[in-house]
Amino acid sequence: MTVSLVGAGPGDPDLLTMKAARLLGDADIVVHDALVGRGVLDLIPVHAERIDVGKRVGRPVPQEMISALLVELGRQGKRIVRLKGGDPFVFGRGGEEAIALQEAGIEYEVVPGITSSIAAPAAAGVPVTHRGVSAAFTVVTGHRRPGEPDVDWRSLAKVGGTIVILMGVTHRAAIADELIVGGLAPDTPVAAIQSATTDDEAVVRCALADLGAAIVESPATIVVGGVAAFDLSGTAALAQRA
Ligand code: SAH
Repeated sequence: MTVSLVGAGPGDPDLLTMKAARLLGDADIVVHDALVGRGVLDLIPVHAERIDVGKRVGRPVPQEMISALLVELGRQGKRIVRLKGGDPFVFGRGGEEAIALQEAGIEYEVVPGITSSIAAPAAAGVPVTHRGVSAAFTVVTGHRRPGEPDVDWRSLAKVGGTIVILMGVTHRAAIADELIVGGLAPDTPVAAIQSATTDDEAVVRCALADLGAAIVESPATIVVGGVAAFDLSGTAALAQRA
């Protein structure tokens, strides 16, 4: 396989798939994002070339350039790993890269990863579904992109189940307001999990009405719904927090 679009999981290298670890170990070139955990990057062999296309606010590497780079590298016939945080097809723009490779006739594969939309709640001991509490979960972006339709938060408030918001830190106050206008109770539990499964992990819990005022730092996954009141993270984690 020439280009592998690989999910790196939420941060902790133990949460990589075995396939991702194998591909990383065999890679000639690794093209990675800013959100890939340091421990995962440490698994890249020293002889492999690393290309950081990390997109940070204010200094974006245009997606077209990344796709063009993958096509160019793919033509060289080397083993290219395109490493993306979480899962490549969950808000990772992996689809755009796959289309570019497909159109250029380059062999590629997609290796799923553990998405932060599941791993971050789990790190805080929040089950995204729970019998009698939540029978569904919706994963949604809180980031507004010009030219894309806004998320209809008021309708989402009526869907029921758990709402998992990625990229929602900046607009959290407006999102909370819209969800409340849409019918969610102001005291609906919220858990915001920052840098889940890394050394910087921190969990903020509050009521939906207080989300705007709560201090939350990116990257964070925000969980809204009855399940956000749970902490089933395990006895070891509980003892640590006590
Ligand atoms: N493809 C990724 C998501 C990319 S969008 C995935 O499947 O996880 C980037 C957003 O993911 C961040 O803004 C944040 O909301 C979330 N995120 C990524 N890593 C995270 C982490 N370690 N802890 C909490 N949220 C994280």
